[in-house]
Amino acid sequence: MEKEKVVIIGSGPAACTAAIYCARADLDPVMVMGYEEGGQLTTTPEVGNWPGAVGDPSGFDIMQGLLKHTDEFKVRKIHDVVKSVDFSDPSCKKLQLSGDKELLTSAVIIATGARARFLDLPSEAQFKGKGVSACATCDGMFFRNKTVAVIGGGSVAFIEALFLSKLCSKVYLIHRREGFRAEQILVERINELAAQGKVEMLLNAKVTEYVGDDLLSGIVLDVKGERRELPVNGVFVAIGHQPATEIFAGQLDLDEGGYIKVGADGKGDTATSCPGVFAAGDCAYPRYHQAIVAAGAGCKAALDTEQYLLGI
Ligand code: NAP
Repeated sequence: MEKEKVVIIGSGPAACTAAIYCARADLDPVMVMGYEEGGQLTTTPEVGNWPGAVGDPSGFDIMQGLLKHTDEFKVRKIHDVVKSVDFSDPSCKKLQLSGDKELLTSAVIIATGARARFLDLPSEAQFKGKGVSACATCDGMFFRNKTVAVIGGGSVAFIEALFLSKLCSKVYLIHRREGFRAEQILVERINELAAQGKVEMLLNAKVTEYVGDDLLSGIVLDVKGERRELPVNGVFVAIGHQPATEIFAGQLDLDEGGYIKVGADGKGDTATSCPGVFAAGDCAYPRYHQAIVAAGAGCKAALDTEQYLLGI
């Protein structure tokens, strides 16, 4: 079987950017696209912060542009998923696809992304995009001068609440216990806003139900065993992300959250613990979760790959 120079796993902004850069460097990349072609961005209704894309295009439109760009460079695409990997021989990595299909390659760029965790309430799917979101940066502006709730007690929940407090008339921060995982400085800033009445913290509170007709109009809470209805226009769920890295466990170093550790041995920002395997985007960066950051990391991964293949 012929060995590829580089295989890119994924089809979101990080994967497409890596593919464009690899193709321009004559690395003849092949992409394994995955089940949800285009990744998380394809389900984002409006993207107002992709530089240069004026007029709030949809995430789907942005991804179509990126995928078309890869087509223009004749990037080969396999519409399948990687089921398992074997990186035990660094000079020839093996990727097992569905059935008995296998790819051999010198280098791999992993851009498998991460999924925001939701509460998994029965009514959640009905209200996603209609009041329930996992990204204030993406969707906050739809709730200008409205009442919203942020769920979670980690740094992301606090950052989301700070961001929303500038746009919304009222922000509830709802957390299931009293202690926070968030950085103390963020807790102090939210406490200041709470003292001004802009934010209200509801602790020991669990969301049990979403309420509304077409659009969300409220939530039901269990506060220390007591039922409470809270009218809100929007809910931002900020209870962490789950990186799509299960198949790399045992092959690459992952952190305690399952994110791929990168920046190994001065071989570039995207180098993993295995020589010739690079990771870009949300599968490796728990902090930012922005498409533009993923695209930038895809560029870095392609440059790191090029240097690896040149033996630099
Ligand atoms: P996180 O720190 O893991 O916090 C998740 C929060 O969601 C916790 O408060 C958790 O509650 C809550 N939660 C989890 N499952 C829940 C459920 N089913 N129902 C209700 N609440 C639930 O996640 P994160 O805030 O997304 O942050 C991710 C990582 O990025 C962290 O390591 C964070 O430190 C880092 N980060 C750093 C910065 C920075 O500026 N330095 C900024 C953003 C993120 P419990 O506490 O009760 O478990």
